[in-house]
Amino acid sequence: MAERFGVLALQGAVPEHLRALAAAGVEAVPVKWPADLEGLRGLVLPGGESTTIGDLMQHYGFIEAIQRFVQEGGACYGTCAGAILLATEIVGGKPNQPRLGIIPMTVQRNGFGRQVESAEVPLAMPVLGPEPVHTVFIRAPYIAEVGPGVEVLAEHQGKIVAARYGRHLVTAFHPELTEDRRIHKLFVEMAFGAVSA
Ligand code: GLN
Repeated sequence: MAERFGVLALQGAVPEHLRALAAAGVEAVPVKWPADLEGLRGLVLPGGESTTIGDLMQHYGFIEAIQRFVQEGGACYGTCAGAILLATEIVGGKPNQPRLGIIPMTVQRNGFGRQVESAEVPLAMPVLGPEPVHTVFIRAPYIAEVGPGVEVLAEHQGKIVAARYGRHLVTAFHPELTEDRRIHKLFVEMAFGAVSA
């Protein structure tokens, strides 16, 4: 498997994730078609609108292609809508919303209410060290329930907002909109660690 990483480029903060991955020290390319997954080690699923991205993923054949990519050893990192798309269960979505179902967890869409649609929050995330991580929440989901093997990495207002499952990572917030690159570095390390394990 190659050293390259990709960012699913259907909707959302694609250039920001490409820059964050490059700053984390890896080559990063936009993924516009399922064939672009070929030879990638990791894939970022950006935020946006999970129903729209899910419909586009289904339309272009990305659901099966990304599931295959994962079966073959690829790692995924989902931010916000991307985290929703990786979940097995989605609450507050449209019925049968398309999803990848890769991480055994239940996500609640728009979980922090309408009043706080967008907020910048310094968040404790012990896996990254003692310094809190600066995060941006935008109509964020939270993780309501995790299945076996899912490790909780951070909570905000008593709700799970970051977790990992094997080599896969999810955050309800957007680190790509800040200059803190520790989360992208963590994902890169997880994606490489999976291969040598
Ligand atoms: N609220 C969006 C959804 O449910 C996610 C928002 C985001 O990705 N910033 O898809």
